[in-house]
Amino acid sequence: MKVFTQFTDEEVRKAQVSVLELLLINHPLDCPVCDRGGECPLQDQALAFGPGASRYEEAKRTYRKPLPLSPLVNLDRERCVLCARCTRFCDQISGDRFIELFDRGGAEQVGISAGQDFRSPFSGNTVQICPVGALTATTYRFAARPFDVATGDTICPHCGDNLDVNDAWACDKGRFAFSFVDQPTRLTTPLLRDHGLEPASFDETLAAVATWCRGGRAAVLAGGRLSNEDAYALSKLARTGLRTNDIDARPFPCDPSALPAERAQATGGMAVTYRDVELAKLIVVVGLDAEQEVPILHLRIRKAARQGARIVVIHPRRTRSYDVAEHV
Ligand code: SF4
Ligand code: SF4
Repeated sequence: MKVFTQFTDEEVRKAQVSVLELLLINHPLDCPVCDRGGECPLQDQALAFGPGASRYEEAKRTYRKPLPLSPLVNLDRERCVLCARCTRFCDQISGDRFIELFDRGGAEQVGISAGQDFRSPFSGNTVQICPVGALTATTYRFAARPFDVATGDTICPHCGDNLDVNDAWACDKGRFAFSFVDQPTRLTTPLLRDHGLEPASFDETLAAVATWCRGGRAAVLAGGRLSNEDAYALSKLARTGLRTNDIDARPFPCDPSALPAERAQATGGMAVTYRDVELAKLIVVVGLDAEQEVPILHLRIRKAARQGARIVVIHPRRTRSYDVAEHV
């Protein structure tokens, strides 16, 4: 087989330039104000392989911009290159088919049904995979340039996943709801219930706790959003320092019937990985609303269903897995 590329064949090079010229015919000159500017593949491709100047002299097609698809996601249809990544994600990965490609030819555009809200809990992933600045997050709009943003390792505190990205996807809670750490209503100092709730230093607080625990029984109630490592350290302190097994940290009301399974999971007796889930032939989900409680697991269960697994959900109400599972 002989492969011709833009570097070896003039016809191929012209075809490549033409594709970029056509992509840019109606594309706005938004780069200086576009959230994607600086990390935009279209910008990069146009610079590296584009024609350099446009021969198109007509008025460009314009749309109202931006079009809010939800409180979190904006659509700028002028910047869309109609790659269908966003609609395919909603169709094939999350199953939340709120957005679709409508119309044909030059009028083709991503859209949402009138009166609908893009209320998928995975909507932020479409912003992530949109290769241009067509889908943008309202929280990030005009906030910073990509090259000004620093990256760092972190975890998500909102569910038992404790992972922000899994199989390339994150849920909207993890993606958007991290700002709670900066809320002015959060406690930033310990409060001692000595004479009413009064601010105290950590030294004073730990000394008071040590005094109260001496000779008596202690219980520890931790916040449900601790990392696994912090929860382990606290558990170790409670069991070895305070000599108590009375420790809990669940953010949601607990169903006592789930305790044996939780205990088995915590002690390694049910070591199931996400990879195991997506390769399973039969998955039985008991008492779990996976989309709400462990969203990334929900996507893995859907992935298994796409690969032919039989999914059975035992739950008192219909969960979002209804279209891929048998509900009992
Ligand atoms: S999508 Fe890319 S090419 Fe288009 S305006 Fe934004 S940065 Fe520029
Ligand atoms: S991912 Fe972005 S560029 Fe692609 S169709 Fe969707 S909105 Fe348009």
